[in-house]
Amino acid sequence: MTTDEQKAIESEIYAFVGQQVYPPTPAADDVNDAMIRQWAEIMGDTNPAYLDKDWAASSSREGTIAPPAMMYVWGQEGFQVTKGRAPNAMSNLVSTFDSYGYTGVLGTNVKQEYFKEVSPGDNITIEMIIDNISERKATGRGTGYFFETLSTFTDQHGEKIGTQRFKVLKFIPQEQPATAAPEGKLDVPSRIASPRGHDNKWWWEACDNGKVLIQRCDNCGALRHPPRPMCGECNSMEWDSIESTLDGEVLSHTEIHHPKIPGYQYPLVCAVIKLAEGTNLVANIVGCSPSEVQIGMKVKGVVEQIDEKTMLPQFYPAQSGRNP
Ligand SMILES: [Zn+2]
Repeated sequence: MTTDEQKAIESEIYAFVGQQVYPPTPAADDVNDAMIRQWAEIMGDTNPAYLDKDWAASSSREGTIAPPAMMYVWGQEGFQVTKGRAPNAMSNLVSTFDSYGYTGVLGTNVKQEYFKEVSPGDNITIEMIIDNISERKATGRGTGYFFETLSTFTDQHGEKIGTQRFKVLKFIPQEQPATAAPEGKLDVPSRIASPRGHDNKWWWEACDNGKVLIQRCDNCGALRHPPRPMCGECNSMEWDSIESTLDGEVLSHTEIHHPKIPGYQYPLVCAVIKLAEGTNLVANIVGCSPSEVQIGMKVKGVVEQIDEKTMLPQFYPAQSGRNP
């Protein structure tokens, strides 16, 4: 980027500092017990100050309060956030970055501060501005600018209950440098390693050795996948396994387009495959074009090395002749 281009973008983006993204907007719902209960359940927070009316009544607050971290929840937009919204200062700022090639976006951090508690019946008003934009920075993701929005939350009396700062990096995505693969190694980036824990490590180790195993209950003989410690039929924790023939049928499938993840070859078809043994397996379908994949199609799996470290069953159309 030339100095002139840098001057041009900076004269545009810095004009956004201080602009309002949303005017002060009261939340559609007052602070209420139902949303607090659900939030606490999802977060696994059992604090009686949020949930137990009797306990809270006898506390110094004399009633329940909302978890401070819920501050942003009360005015949270629904799914329409993704479409059809009138442009505002933030979307205009993002478009400006995009027009100069700063198309990469990365949320980098959120910082909340709390000043006052709220209780059921209070109403929260939210206002957001673009608070600051950094100077141009070279980062590991590419050259770009950090911008920070500042949301301010007030109650129905106009008293400030908290603030939230959200920082975003807009950057010029770097082209991945083409690197030659070392001699005899696969010329593909590695996928994220499979998560191997106490209950599923054995399955991945068999896969490393070219086998797809299916867990079988020692007590009632029921098969199950993915691996887990207890039989869903009889609750027995005793089990062994059988090896799948990898004959299967497509139960459901989708083609994944974006974002393109390193280590995966595109086109990329992901399918739920019903194995002949009766259990289902999620895997990729290869060896045909995505448009040929159909529900009910017979497939045959082959455990293949798909990058430096990963063995995985790949499923081919059963007639493709790729069968082992
Ligand atoms: Zn069982």
